Amino acid sequence: MTTAVENSKLQLQPEESRNVGGGTGTAVVIGGGIAGITAALVLAQVGIEPVLLEKRAGLGGRANSFYDKQQEMLVDECQHGTMRCCTTLDWLFQRLGVDGYIRYFDRLEFLDGDGIRSAIYATGLPPPFHTAVSFARFKSLTLSDKVAIGRALMSILVCPSWMVPANENMLNWLCSTHQTERAISRFWRPILVSACNEELQKISCAYGFKVFREGFLSTRTGYQFGVPTVPLSTLYSEPAIEAIRNLGGRVRTKTAVKSILFDSTNCRATGVLLQNGESISANWVVSALQCDQILRLLPTDSNASVHEWEQLAGIPLVPIMGVHLWFDRSIEIPPAIALLDRSFEWVFNRNALYPALRNSPAFLSLVISASSRFDAASREDVVALALKELGEAFPVVADAKLVHSSVVRWPKATISPSTEVHAMRSGPTTPYSNVVLAGEWTNTGWPSTMEGAAISGLNAAHYILQASGLPLPYRPGPMAPEGISRFIMHFGEWWYRRRR
Ligand SMILES: Cc1cc2nc3c(=O)[nH]c(=O)nc-3n(C[C@H](O)[C@H](O)[C@H](O)COP(=O)(O)OP(=O)(O)OC[C@H]3O[C@@H](n4cnc5c(N)ncnc54)[C@H](O)[C@@H]3O)c2cc1C
Repeated sequence: MTTAVENSKLQLQPEESRNVGGGTGTAVVIGGGIAGITAALVLAQVGIEPVLLEKRAGLGGRANSFYDKQQEMLVDECQHGTMRCCTTLDWLFQRLGVDGYIRYFDRLEFLDGDGIRSAIYATGLPPPFHTAVSFARFKSLTLSDKVAIGRALMSILVCPSWMVPANENMLNWLCSTHQTERAISRFWRPILVSACNEELQKISCAYGFKVFREGFLSTRTGYQFGVPTVPLSTLYSEPAIEAIRNLGGRVRTKTAVKSILFDSTNCRATGVLLQNGESISANWVVSALQCDQILRLLPTDSNASVHEWEQLAGIPLVPIMGVHLWFDRSIEIPPAIALLDRSFEWVFNRNALYPALRNSPAFLSLVISASSRFDAASREDVVALALKELGEAFPVVADAKLVHSSVVRWPKATISPSTEVHAMRSGPTTPYSNVVLAGEWTNTGWPSTMEGAAISGLNAAHYILQASGLPLPYRPGPMAPEGISRFIMHFGEWWYRRRR
């Protein structure tokens, strides 16, 4: 099935579409993260020969692992999770043949500061009421919290995407819907800060509404939380290299690009110059880098319109911190559980997640999103806080002895999904006719996530194909609304159009 390119910015004028990039041929894709992998895969599939260049030793970009010498194992730089509603990422997993390595949880477990455990899960009721029973039983919230949350969720569901107040932040919007303090601290904040990596006052409603509409309201399974059962580098690196090569593309790791090369008009790229002095020519150049990195690859005398891109360097980036703890004995806790009322938001039990570690002593990972308040904290303090919060949440941890720990800080983990940044996100087009942008920070409609990265790679590849007059291959769309949600969403469209 061929679907139309969704982003109107991708639609080319007939004259442009004749031969913007010099027809089929070759493309250099700079950056082997999820965006670059996706772009290279799609280009290779339709016969535009890509060469994917990645400066690190393996592919995966920010979704990667390192080798812990003390424990002699691959460890994720930080735990990554996905949701069932992330259909493009799921499609990529299938293309790489690794979808079997994602374990989806149909119960989302929460543990509050009073030690009370609750869960969100679906019953037989149609969406949006599929999780209503679990919500009614959610012990960490009172009836008045739940009534306020229910009202706000209905407002989100009924609001068509074109009416979402993208210039409003989630905290202001939640206050305008009279949420209780507990509803914010135990429901809205934990879900949105984990999903968007930013505090509520800096999350545009464009992203907050999207997470709830697509994740929790419109379909029965969209909320399910997916976690890899292998290290991230195992998930992405070798499978992606093999898949791209099998389609005739090339992949070069440990290959850093120094600059993009332009012709004498400075309007068209001719290829790239590598750090080792080698140059590679191509009809197309795809930048699948983090937002501020492409500027470093442009020659200082390049096209004056580059100033349009200078704002990219100003997009605020938000940190994430991950802590890995190894103990001397096994510890029985759930595979993945969200902590309420604490600094650490999630605990992952790797022994329960990785079949290979099932019988090993405990290996637990914790995550803090939007972690700038811990920027100055020492490694020792971070580990001590993790042990304290873990011990309070699961007394069984206090009996175990810590044998090794690792703190991973990502100062520039994701872009801030703020109202200002929402207006700054661009791509895939650039001032240069054959330089195309990918990367999770581009205009994907999603916060800075693996799903956004995969969508951006597809957007870039489809732009090139469309410009080259080639047929567009299949691209997954969002999950179709189900049950009563479908009617509520139709009603919302009708109602808001009538009021305009
Ligand atoms: C700590 C952390 C936790 C996260 N948790 C989640 C999560 O739970 N769920 C989720 O969906 N998302 C999460 N994310 C976000 C997700 O990892 C990113 O959105 C996604 O991986 C970005 O992919 P990308 O391909 O756009 O960019 P990147 O992964 O940054 O890829 C860019 C690539 O370009 C390479 N590169 C840079 N310069 C050059 C050069 N000159 N030449 C060649 N190569 C170059 C880099 O090495 C890198 O591999 C997390 C991110 C971090 C950092």
